[in-house]
Amino acid sequence: MKTIIEPFRIKSVEPLHHTTPEERERYLEEAGYNLFLIEARNILIDLLTDSGTSAMSTEQWAAMMRGDESYAGSESFHRMRRVVQDLTGFRHVIPTHQGRAAERILFTVLCRPGHVVPNNTHFDTTRANIEFTGARAVDLPSPEAADTQARLDFKGNMDTAALERLIETEGAARIPLVMLTVTNNSGGGQPVSLANIEAVRRVAARHGIPLYLDACRFAENAWFIQQREPGCSHLTPKQVAQKMFSLADGCTFSAKKDAFANIGGFLCTNDDRLAAQETNLLILTEGFPTYGGLAGRDLDAIAVGLEEVLDPDYLRYRVVSTGYLGRHIADAGVPIVEPPGGHAIYIDAARMLPHIPRSQFPAQALAVELYRHAGIRSVEIGSVMFGAEARQELLRLAIPRRVYTQSHIDYVVEAILEVNARKQALRGLEIVHEPPFLRHFTARFRRL
Ligand SMILES: *Cc1c(COP(=O)(O)O)cnc(C)c1O
Repeated sequence: MKTIIEPFRIKSVEPLHHTTPEERERYLEEAGYNLFLIEARNILIDLLTDSGTSAMSTEQWAAMMRGDESYAGSESFHRMRRVVQDLTGFRHVIPTHQGRAAERILFTVLCRPGHVVPNNTHFDTTRANIEFTGARAVDLPSPEAADTQARLDFKGNMDTAALERLIETEGAARIPLVMLTVTNNSGGGQPVSLANIEAVRRVAARHGIPLYLDACRFAENAWFIQQREPGCSHLTPKQVAQKMFSLADGCTFSAKKDAFANIGGFLCTNDDRLAAQETNLLILTEGFPTYGGLAGRDLDAIAVGLEEVLDPDYLRYRVVSTGYLGRHIADAGVPIVEPPGGHAIYIDAARMLPHIPRSQFPAQALAVELYRHAGIRSVEIGSVMFGAEARQELLRLAIPRRVYTQSHIDYVVEAILEVNARKQALRGLEIVHEPPFLRHFTARFRRL
């Protein structure tokens, strides 16, 4: 059989709420054309993020009922730690309420003013947490990632020659760690190859610098490696993931992505001294080391989710269904970041709407129109989010895990193609109100 189906059936459903174009026009006006400010009940298909929006399985819900809510020494923690250690091999597992809490603890311990942290591409909270310590976050994506149209296998890779140069100029003593984000979220959800992780590790190890994975989408990355990288096709996704983690000295992780949990995260390290310092910080703001800001039931949901996500049937469906959306719009002439990544499709709005200058936010204009036309929520990743530092004007359509069926995605495809057919009529936007930082969450716009 060639047809790839959703590898689950549905036991519990959540109704969707239809609205009319007139109602949506009103909601847009009330929200100042900012989709973050629209009530979720007025969204039909929500592709704002894949974070914390997964559908949990029956096994996860059952595990939640087993949650041990003891303050100290909870069984739920031991179950979660066993799964994490079996997967990653790291000695210390520190639970946190989400990924950014793991980042804050790690960088507080490791970074000082004047330090530099390289990454293939920093996620926004990672960058913010590094810069909050006075250190500098530097992106070193591989040069081929700059061409959104190039269909290459591992566009999430780090530029190892640039890493060598950076270590030479800054001096290894000022680089407390090297990070690799798998998959590369801000770089289009593109995977990092095992060969690249090995090469980065070699460079870092030669200078005595530890390597950390920002492992939020480790399973999607492992699937791409298993499918695409020479010599890996005989491995299971779990074996690939274990190889990835074996090359690192530690990791940060948001369980809101590849653990199908609605909340949670963790920080891992093999360094005993570091773990002791991190645990002290954990107690200060997150909680006792066997719960770290989470309920016991959350830890159990994560433990089960981490095993489910490595099911080859699930990963095949996941990557094929994201690619399905990408191919159906790209092959009909909508420019996307090629090839489709694991968790999202990114439309290149500057290329699609060349008549709207960057100063008038083409990707935001497209997000607004997609909501007005069909009730679909997406997110601008461009000049609204990053200001003058934006390198591209992208519209991200993130796919929540196990939530939408193919007919939902067919509806999204139809909506995008209808908007594309009359794209000349789209007009840009102007900001009428903005806060001093992270303006994309609360800015208000006016139509031009
Ligand atoms: C989501 C994410 C984070 C932060 O995790 P939160 O759970 O949202 O705090 C860090 N890095 C990457 C790559 C992410 O996608």
